[in-house]
Amino acid sequence: MDRFTRRSVSRMQGYVPGEQSRAPGIIKLNTNENPYPPSPMVAKALQALPVEELRLYPEPTALEVRKRIAAIHGCDIDSVFVGNGSDEILALCTRAFVEDDGDIGFFNPSYSLYPVLALIRNVATKPVELSADFSWRMPKAYKTSLFFMTNPNAPTGMLHDRSTVGRFCRQLRGVTVIDEAYVDFAREDCMDMALRYNNVLVVRTLSKAFSLAGLRVGYAVGAKPLIAALFKLKDSYNTDTIAQRLALAALSDLHHMKANVRKIRQTRARLSRLLVERGAFVFPSETNFLWLRPPAVPAEVFCKRLRERQIMIRYFCGPRTADFVRITVGTDEQVDRLIEAIDEMGLVGVPSPRGLAVKRKGCR
Ligand code: PMP
Repeated sequence: MDRFTRRSVSRMQGYVPGEQSRAPGIIKLNTNENPYPPSPMVAKALQALPVEELRLYPEPTALEVRKRIAAIHGCDIDSVFVGNGSDEILALCTRAFVEDDGDIGFFNPSYSLYPVLALIRNVATKPVELSADFSWRMPKAYKTSLFFMTNPNAPTGMLHDRSTVGRFCRQLRGVTVIDEAYVDFAREDCMDMALRYNNVLVVRTLSKAFSLAGLRVGYAVGAKPLIAALFKLKDSYNTDTIAQRLALAALSDLHHMKANVRKIRQTRARLSRLLVERGAFVFPSETNFLWLRPPAVPAEVFCKRLRERQIMIRYFCGPRTADFVRITVGTDEQVDRLIEAIDEMGLVGVPSPRGLAVKRKGCR
């Protein structure tokens, strides 16, 4: 602890992103990136951008990108905000919609950034525990200033149905942010609620279905006063010129994105079947990843054994998640290599029994 840093900051642990290895030969199935390249229109837009243009500041509100998003969702541009990744938008929401004595809600388990954002903002959290099968039963008379509703949820991959989400948004006095990072891989979405209710924002990202995690572009759609609040709080130039140009190109070629999504959904079904055949317990996924209890060995060991074979998947320690692993759906070739490794190492049999995971010190 040093005497210059705020106490709340000294005490907190920052967000830990998944490992970003660039080692050759690695099969990277740990951070839900898209295994296919972005639209060729993105490469064209990058080549067409004169370096001279970087001399000038970017358009501060990402106007052209917002126009395109507004056209896609059939709304006004004042209902659209573009951010430096959807992570930036989630952080802005904690600054815009939570008083200092307010609180922030989310599912447990869910995206592990939310509790960190609450710590940064130095406000209380009000997690909603999901059931043992990760389905959602809302406690009666639940209240919070801001609820992050990941739908489909991460890391479980499960979709909560629209009628339950709608009922929740209507009864919550605070703001519901529906984090639809993975919705392009799902059978339905809740965008209409952002355009109908005055307390709902839908947040999306170009990092997953559009294959642009490295670009850092996300967006929010919702009631104009909520969007106006985000504009007041953002950095002056939160998205750069390159990001704006390439995002516009990607959003102008939805056909490419949808074709990749179709492939990933097919591979998802195949991977799920192959894992079940080997004794895994696989949860129904509406995303580009699978959540499963692996066969034969505890989840952490399963993860480590695959890492020895240059295959990276994600393990989250902690009481709700320690028995499971999350595997991003890669290409069919990557899936073949994964299954080969599982078979060669004999990681097959019945799912590892619950409770095998040891509660480690320092696990968060
Ligand atoms: N929401 C969820 C549920 C996520 O899993 C992620 C990716 N880690 C994000 C938001 C953030 O996406 P990005 O900042 O890349 O737009």
